[in-house]
Amino acid sequence: MEVKPKAELIDYTDNPERNVATAARLCYSKKGAAQLNEEMSREKVEDLVRKVVGMGHTSTLEHTYFFFHVQCSRVTSHQIVRQRIGTSYSQRSQRYVTEDNFDYIIPPKIKKNEKAHKMFKDKMEDLEDTYLELIEMGIPKEDARFILPTIKTNIVISYNARSLMHFIRLRTCNRAQWEIRILARQMLKEVKKVAPVIFENAGPPCETDGECPEGDLSCGKIDKIKEKQ
Ligand SMILES: Cc1cc2nc3c(=O)[nH]c(=O)nc-3n(C[C@H](O)[C@H](O)[C@H](O)COP(=O)(O)OP(=O)(O)OC[C@H]3O[C@@H](n4cnc5c(N)ncnc54)[C@H](O)[C@@H]3O)c2cc1C
Repeated sequence: MEVKPKAELIDYTDNPERNVATAARLCYSKKGAAQLNEEMSREKVEDLVRKVVGMGHTSTLEHTYFFFHVQCSRVTSHQIVRQRIGTSYSQRSQRYVTEDNFDYIIPPKIKKNEKAHKMFKDKMEDLEDTYLELIEMGIPKEDARFILPTIKTNIVISYNARSLMHFIRLRTCNRAQWEIRILARQMLKEVKKVAPVIFENAGPPCETDGECPEGDLSCGKIDKIKEKQ
């Protein structure tokens, strides 16, 4: 069955921005963290968070975590887990869990093409039948899965705010693939609800720095941004 890629924010550090501000203030104060944390007004917190993000004192962002559940294709989970720093992953096992809900993501360009769409779905059904038959024959799930295409997977991810900012920077860029871009945009939307100041300027380099590092491969959005300036 076709499913959509999605990223849900399941949990996050209490007072995500206050933690960052406390860490920042502690660096320049003789007071203890508990006292600083308690006495800061909301305005002070916002001011400090803006300052540290603006000046790149971003190790302070590492004191705040966001925990997501992500549903996506295995093509994209492979791209997601390439990010090594400040992230933790747990992915549903195909060794222990039977893929009897054979869910998959259909790329929009395949979906738009009637013939390609039909071919894609027929092949998925074939592969599902073969996979389930192999299991019925007594082949272990961990071996039957070798026939599986890159169907849907479930993965939970913890990012600290700094690593999430990095992920968003790389993966909201138009040069990133469409599925991971959808997820990065969803994550950004979710965290903006709970940590609006940390993420107020998060996005791809063309939006945050007014520069595109992609050179000849640039999508061209930077030219439009510069035209408007
Ligand atoms: C548009 C796009 C296309 C891509 N295409 C490809 C591709 O074709 N093939 C491919 O293999 N990957 C590809 N990638 C993945 C990319 O190369 C990175 O592996 C991935 O984006 C994770 O980024 P990162 O290494 O910066 O993150 P992290 O692993 O979280 O690292 C964060 C930062 O820590 C530092 N760091 C981490 N590890 C080291 C280290 N060992 N030594 C020194 N500094 C370190 C670096 O400054 C790094 O930026 C692509 C990514 C994007 C966004």
